[in-house]
Amino acid sequence: ALAGVGYTSYVVYQMRNPADQPDPDPSKKTLVILGTGWGSVSLLKKLDTENYNVVVISPRNYFLFTPLLPSCTTGTIEHRSIMEPIRNFLRHKKAAVKYYEAEATKVDYEKKVVYINDESEIKGDVSATEVPFDMLVVGVGAENATFGIPGVREHGLFLKEVGDAQRIRKRIMDCCETAIFKDQDPEEVKRLLHMVVVGGGPTGVEFAGELQDFFNDDLKKWIPDIKENFNVTLVEALPNVLPMFSKQLIEYTEKTFKEETIKIRTKTMVKRVTDKFIEAESTGPDGKKQLERIPYGLLVWATGNALRPVVKDLMSQIPAQKDSRRGLAVNEYLVVKGTENIWAVGDCAVANYAPTAQVAAQEGSFLARLFNQMAKTEQIEEELKKLSTAQEKAPSKDDRDRVFANIKDLQKRLRRVKQMGPFEYSHQGSLAYIGSEKAVADISWLTGNFATGGTLTYFFWRSAYLSMCFSTRNRVLVLVDWVKAKVFGRDVSR
Ligand code: NAD
Repeated sequence: ALAGVGYTSYVVYQMRNPADQPDPDPSKKTLVILGTGWGSVSLLKKLDTENYNVVVISPRNYFLFTPLLPSCTTGTIEHRSIMEPIRNFLRHKKAAVKYYEAEATKVDYEKKVVYINDESEIKGDVSATEVPFDMLVVGVGAENATFGIPGVREHGLFLKEVGDAQRIRKRIMDCCETAIFKDQDPEEVKRLLHMVVVGGGPTGVEFAGELQDFFNDDLKKWIPDIKENFNVTLVEALPNVLPMFSKQLIEYTEKTFKEETIKIRTKTMVKRVTDKFIEAESTGPDGKKQLERIPYGLLVWATGNALRPVVKDLMSQIPAQKDSRRGLAVNEYLVVKGTENIWAVGDCAVANYAPTAQVAAQEGSFLARLFNQMAKTEQIEEELKKLSTAQEKAPSKDDRDRVFANIKDLQKRLRRVKQMGPFEYSHQGSLAYIGSEKAVADISWLTGNFATGGTLTYFFWRSAYLSMCFSTRNRVLVLVDWVKAKVFGRDVSR
């Protein structure tokens, strides 16, 4: 059996390192892809890399399975379980792809170059340089919106990247350990144990649910002294949370939060943040506005997306982007409006869909098909050119007829290849975990529009996420983490 396992591992290892992977061909068109998130990675997965000289640029040398990121803030899942190194799948490609770990700081649209900056701690001789492109795909995502509210960047924690989840995890434990420090003032204990989440979108809701689970399942057992004062509050400016879900699911979420003792403060708009308080304006049932100071120990800021500077700068170079506010306006083939050789996918693109992973993934796959088809079209057109010369030079009528038949065949193939419709998003549904082993789902493909909540949905949520997880390796790791947390409890070390 051991020999069998050994041999299988060897075969798998061999498969992962194709010895015959040819180098990128610089004589081909250079396709530069910015980003390693949902959009760019879906594109890379389906792209026939042998058709282009492909260069990937991203400060993050891994793909992150973001739907499970809230689970990393409490240690239900370890962050490495939802990271997949970009090298892991680039080496499966037929032709090699160049990858540079760097941030794209500027795209010069006229000159067709991307300026990049290596942000790593160790510096080589070069830390900033430029990469020319023939074709460019912008999939850099977005940054956290703060709406310029003072104090948010200094005191709030975001939930977008692995580092954010780690910071939150540490801060939760720091708050708990500091709260029970000897001779701590009772008011200070209350403040430290008040966990405030701003933003009632899916990010805020999922995090609040995970945090309350952490308290209920583990924290109150390991640190019973915090039991009386540990509180989670979700603050939302609009009249309800999860605006993209149906009314029934909003009510279900609000009811579940009540049972979990998560306090929801709707119609409450945060205006300012200091190191210990948030200042919020709440609107009462009588419409009266009231300003209040809410003390907090942990502040998680989840109020959605804002444009990255590199995207804003690119937009300023293209007159057709003048009126676009939320991101790069694209046409139905995801071409950035006003350009011919730049495409955009995911949260940095505006194509009339919500900025979700699902949309980005579908856009990425669409572009892969489009680029594969463009390469095929070019190949066929070249062959056709050769054939028509051959036809002219053919010595006999028979030869000419044979070449002519070939031309007809190729023309037919060309027509078929060229028939590619525009991008159409197919919504598979929305899914969100709301804590205490419950989830809500709006699933359009089940029964027109099927809304469900509860424990069964939770198992559906788990299996759906597990099946969507990037690689078999990730699937195994996530499953093991779930079992580990259930059996031993979550790890409460800081
Ligand atoms: P969001 O934009 O969906 O929600 C942000 C919320 O913050 C809004 O409801 C807004 O009213 C509120 N807000 C803004 N400023 C505020 C203030 N000053 N005070 C109080 N409240 C304020 O943001 P998100 O949850 O980060 O989601 C971003 C995108 O990612 C969305 O398109 C979402 O659908 C998607 N997403 C989906 C899932 C899922 O399907 N499970 C999970 C995470 C994110």
